[in-house]
Amino acid sequence: MPLPQEIIRRKRDGQTLSDDDIRWFVRGIKDESISEGQVGAFAMAVYFNGLTLAERVALTTAMRDSGTVLRWDLPGPVLDKHSTGGVGDVVSLMLGPMVAACGGYVPMISGRGLGHTGGTLDKLDSIPGYNPFPSNTVLEQTVRELGVAIIGQTGDLAPADRRFYGIRDVTATVESIDLITASILSKKLAEGLDALVMDVKVGSGAFMPTAELSEQLAQSIVAVAEGAGVRTTALLTDMNQVLARSAGNAVEVREAVEYLTGGPRDAALHEVTLALGAEMLLSGGLADSLDDARARLQQSLDNGQAAERFAKMIAALGGPVDFLEKADETLPVAPIIQTIKAPQSGYVQPLTVRDIGLAVVALGGGRTRADQRIDAAVGLTDIVKPGTYIEAGEPLAVAHLRSEAQFAELQQRLIAAMPIADRPADALSVIHQRLAH
Ligand code: URA
Repeated sequence: MPLPQEIIRRKRDGQTLSDDDIRWFVRGIKDESISEGQVGAFAMAVYFNGLTLAERVALTTAMRDSGTVLRWDLPGPVLDKHSTGGVGDVVSLMLGPMVAACGGYVPMISGRGLGHTGGTLDKLDSIPGYNPFPSNTVLEQTVRELGVAIIGQTGDLAPADRRFYGIRDVTATVESIDLITASILSKKLAEGLDALVMDVKVGSGAFMPTAELSEQLAQSIVAVAEGAGVRTTALLTDMNQVLARSAGNAVEVREAVEYLTGGPRDAALHEVTLALGAEMLLSGGLADSLDDARARLQQSLDNGQAAERFAKMIAALGGPVDFLEKADETLPVAPIIQTIKAPQSGYVQPLTVRDIGLAVVALGGGRTRADQRIDAAVGLTDIVKPGTYIEAGEPLAVAHLRSEAQFAELQQRLIAAMPIADRPADALSVIHQRLAH
């Protein structure tokens, strides 16, 4: 039997670990036979010396296999998308039902907001009655019948990653592309997928601090997922703008309902949704080309099938049966609605999206501690996009507040995060790059 300190020493000295060593170490992380100090030292050794592709695949699959791995026997491909997190990134709520309406099966395990970014699970919590932790039978039945279930992560999904991540968090070792790759993929691959698309954000609101690191992460994820046998593509997408027009929880769900039911669709949000969905349909063999896939996705919106899948999913998981018709009455509404006005005329520049996300957290729309409750009603709507010409006094955004006292600080933060200049900045493309194996 290997000794943990020998494995740590080998990685510290820049050697390559065997699959067996990595599997043994991951078992020890999960059953806590390896101490927190040893796991932290291992993470630091990886942080400095990195992992080969084979080591990353071994770490990812060992963490995936540390808990339940879902198995499906369905008449179509099992597909999912994962995003590294953004502000106003409500894509999952529309994408899951759209892909389902095109023949895919999407058991989407979503997470809570992290730092300045929002989380799909927090958004779904604003729908009264919706239970994102259904029994296995209900999950299985919902995915089989409707093609989509957006749920939360149960304790038995990649439990080794949960302990490992917690230790990385307190040992300054989160920022390792190799460890981030294994962490993200271990959870996603436990869904039993045939294909995955990754949305890796780039820009001021991205999890990775530079475009180069976002690209490295995307490359690593594509290579490791393929190594683990799951067809994967990655899109690098823009996070120098709030992706939707709104940022918050209930306000984003409202925007998703409008999007699905033919209301206004923000161009950037629509582009990212179609681009990610097209990758899923193509990888899943449900379309002949990306253009064909986009046309099918658009059709699922035009013929109302995506909206229908969404409505049925909400009802199947305990939400209101008439949610689409009654979203406005059902979703929580903030008592105070006030406009934040542009201080000068000019062109809106790329936004400091991280600060906008943090401003929403400060309103109560996100957490600063894991045990905090979220105020589902607060947030921003009608957020202007970079490149827009705006006159002084016109709205930069509309604030949905719990109290008047929140307004002054929010206004100050938003004006600082939404710069205006005489000339437009260079036009931003929404999809920066596509990476496929
Ligand atoms: N998100 C994850 O799930 N894991 C990481 O390591 C970083 C972000």
